[in-house]
Amino acid sequence: LVARMREFGTTIFAEMTALALRTGAVNLGQGFPDTDGPPAMLERAVEAVRGGLNQYPPGPGVPELRQAVSAHRAARYGLDYDPDGEVLVTVGATEAIAASILALCEPGDEVIVFEPYYDSYAASVALAGAVLRPVTLRPAEGRFTFDPAELAAAAGPRTRAILVNSPHNPTGTVFTREELELIAGLCAEHGLIAITDEVYEHLTFDGVPHIPLATLPGMRERTVVISSAGKTFSVTGWKTGWVCAPEPLVRAVQTVKQFLTFTASAPWQVAAAHALRHELGWVAELRAGLQAKRDRLTAGLTAAGFDVYRPAGTYFVQADIRPLGFTDGLVLARELPSLAGVVAVPTQVFYARPDRGRHFLRFAFCKRDEVIDEAVSRLKRLA
Ligand code: PMP
Ligand code: GLN
Repeated sequence: LVARMREFGTTIFAEMTALALRTGAVNLGQGFPDTDGPPAMLERAVEAVRGGLNQYPPGPGVPELRQAVSAHRAARYGLDYDPDGEVLVTVGATEAIAASILALCEPGDEVIVFEPYYDSYAASVALAGAVLRPVTLRPAEGRFTFDPAELAAAAGPRTRAILVNSPHNPTGTVFTREELELIAGLCAEHGLIAITDEVYEHLTFDGVPHIPLATLPGMRERTVVISSAGKTFSVTGWKTGWVCAPEPLVRAVQTVKQFLTFTASAPWQVAAAHALRHELGWVAELRAGLQAKRDRLTAGLTAAGFDVYRPAGTYFVQADIRPLGFTDGLVLARELPSLAGVVAVPTQVFYARPDRGRHFLRFAFCKRDEVIDEAVSRLKRLA
């Protein structure tokens, strides 16, 4: 393995899901739902396969999906992207993130990332030979946010891009307009490209809106928007994502993408296009259901003795383990199946400086109520 990838090893998701399978523990680790997406969408995928949509689709993606992505962003956020040239279909958001960084960052360029971060960010930056500049999200008044001075200090002459994930995995923070304005201001001041990971764009709670950074003045021109079908339609195994950006940026990302995978699987694209056009009512119900599950799990974890941060979006809750007498989340996560029969993810692995997140576990609530209840009743053994 090349030196720049050696620190990465096996992802925490693979490790923790294997641990759950091996021990029979309730898996609130890896974020994937345990119920299926909208039935008509599933049917569209089956029809596509039976109907012979089984050869290479066009490199930029099936036109139907590019048009549906474009129509969705226009209708929901008032942002116009030309389906021919400003939309690119990728193999999940994960490929979009990697291809964007590889396409836009020279070796030695710096990329600002809020820590904790989804694990592929650091690996993609390392693959590009670029340098991660972490800015820490810390709890303040019940939610995780950044210190504006720390953000301002992270940018310098070598900074090329900032990666912005909102709604944010793993903290559940949904950035406010004020926070986004600070980010936009930094981009303008230093000429940065913003790469926005919006895979949880539909999963916000209590009426908190998702505001795409690209809707702020001057930002559309410098933003690479990334999203995917996995979370919105409960099909994380479909690995169907997309990029929206001005044509020169999309062309750059596509240049890399075509040699990573050339194109993404055709049947899922047709089904995702159907879903973006016809299943947003289903998504509204999913969101309401997830909000209730968030409340169920936060109440349960609080009763089990954790200090819990109530997320405004995503699938995830942060729990501080110190009130239960534990100090290291990685040690606890590895012992949790034998102590309590539950699997969670140690948040510290999402930090460039793990000591800053040592005392957090991340629990996923995108699970059936009986699964959440079983996990909570087991976790009460820790007290
Ligand atoms: N970004 C974030 C913040 C995520 O949580 C995930 C995991 N689903 C991804 C990207 C990857 O998305 P996909 O499965 O579409 O590659
Ligand atoms: N996004 C999901 C999570 O954060 C799963 C990611 C993965 O398995 N790579 O749990």
